[in-house]
Amino acid sequence: MDYISAGDIEKYSYCPLSWWLSRNEKHKENEGVRRHREISKGAADMKKKYKQMKEFESMAIYFSIGATIISLVGISFIYTSPILSRMFILFSILWLGFSFYLLWKADKYAILVERKNAERIMVIASAAATTFSIFSVTFILPPNYTLGYVLEVLSLLWLVFATYFLYMAMKRDIQYNEIKKKLQLPDGEIVYIDDLQKSPILKSEKYKIWGRPDLLIKMGDDYIPVEIKTGRVPRGPHFSHIMQLTAYMVLVEENYKTPPYGLLKYGPVIYKIEYEEDLKNIMLQKVKEMREALKTGEVHRNHNKVGKCLHCSRRELCPERLS
Ligand code: SF4
Repeated sequence: MDYISAGDIEKYSYCPLSWWLSRNEKHKENEGVRRHREISKGAADMKKKYKQMKEFESMAIYFSIGATIISLVGISFIYTSPILSRMFILFSILWLGFSFYLLWKADKYAILVERKNAERIMVIASAAATTFSIFSVTFILPPNYTLGYVLEVLSLLWLVFATYFLYMAMKRDIQYNEIKKKLQLPDGEIVYIDDLQKSPILKSEKYKIWGRPDLLIKMGDDYIPVEIKTGRVPRGPHFSHIMQLTAYMVLVEENYKTPPYGLLKYGPVIYKIEYEEDLKNIMLQKVKEMREALKTGEVHRNHNKVGKCLHCSRRELCPERLS
């Protein structure tokens, strides 16, 4: 069975004849296509800035932790304190116990994400236990001032690096928000962009449909498809666009996770379309009709709206147009 695209579902939902006449059309470069490309480019830039921001943030955290540890080691070489040594032995035992508990707990988690999180915390707890046990030894060694001061200077250097990465992360955050504001995009991490070269086509094996949503935005744990429409801002979302978005929600459901809703964006206005069973069934009924039409070759206008024909880009070729 041939796959049907979400774009064709949109055309068919507007008018079956419009879809039929578009089948032999060549892709046209117009203002809408250009605007779409501009938004995709901006979104790709946003995605890059977000990734860099996260990387700089992580580096800032690692260098801050490093600076703190080096500084503490330095202090432990300058001061000798059996009390602190015993305190760190206690900390080390506690963290070791905590990491064993997590090791036992991780085994019990059925969900992979929970298991991975428990394992990650376990690694951090083990590293903390090791660091504390090192302090417990260095705090009872005889003082070594030279080594202590060298470590304090090194710690300051590490802190300079941490500050630099924090500055870079803030810079990327500002750039990211500037693009987001310019494109008037919703909040969240962009995980997919309609980009012919880089993004894979999303397919539904179950319903034999395919498509590329303009954007897929991760909001919390949900993946939200976004369809961007250029041109005039309508008073409400068009039925054909809702059908196209529903097809994307089906694709997201099969390739990622069931989305609670999708977004239709007309310029600055964004409509939230809930992912409902009824809507899905209407869209699948359209797909069924399209397959039937492909078999029989029988396709006709299914409306009496003059306005639709007036705004239809295929009216010149259409034998059933109303205006
Ligand atoms: S001109 Fe009217 S009937 Fe013809 S394809 Fe367009 S919307 Fe359909």
